[in-house]
Amino acid sequence: MTEAPLIAINRHRMGTDGDGVTTLVAFHGCPLNCQYCLNPQCLRPDGIWRNLTPGDLYSEVEIDDLYFVATGGGICFGGGEPLLWSSFIREFTTIMNPEWKITLETALNVPLEKLIEVAPLVSRFFVDVKDMNGKIYSTYTKKNNKQTIQSLDWLASQGLAEKVIVRLPLIPEYNTPTDIIASRRMLEGMGFSHFNEFVYKKILRTE
Ligand code: SF4
Repeated sequence: MTEAPLIAINRHRMGTDGDGVTTLVAFHGCPLNCQYCLNPQCLRPDGIWRNLTPGDLYSEVEIDDLYFVATGGGICFGGGEPLLWSSFIREFTTIMNPEWKITLETALNVPLEKLIEVAPLVSRFFVDVKDMNGKIYSTYTKKNNKQTIQSLDWLASQGLAEKVIVRLPLIPEYNTPTDIIASRRMLEGMGFSHFNEFVYKKILRTE
């Protein structure tokens, strides 16, 4: 079985990443390079905590089966960028209790086939789009957002927009409340209607 690098497993989360009680499984690695990344260890080569197979992961998280089933919760895959590990996630879902819910915290800036591979298995997507303005996005992340927009278009075209909560952050020194309104309008035009607006903490990276 494929091994994946993790930076953390965090149990007994409520109200932050999906319905019910969830366990956050955070992968190492991300195609973006955000200035205020909250988990910079996912970008550092020496930031890997452990490498696990889907079976190893199941052995670690099954202890909370009763909580997941009783509350409608399950596993939230984040990181880092969880869609870099879509085959791992798919394999994990063949082992887990099918009553568990799968949530993804993703920036969607990955090849579309990785999203297509797991989309039918996901109950809720939390999508951090940063900003829909390409210039703001690339200044902040060091990558363009064409792939993100293609992924959003695909989700909408598959009738999955209702499962998506779009995170629209105010990014200090990079965008403004007016930019957020523009992003929201663009996303509403694409068919999305669930938004989470908040302010990024300004954490300056040391490396
Ligand atoms: S997308 Fe998330 S994990 Fe990746 S660099 Fe940006 S803040 Fe960090």
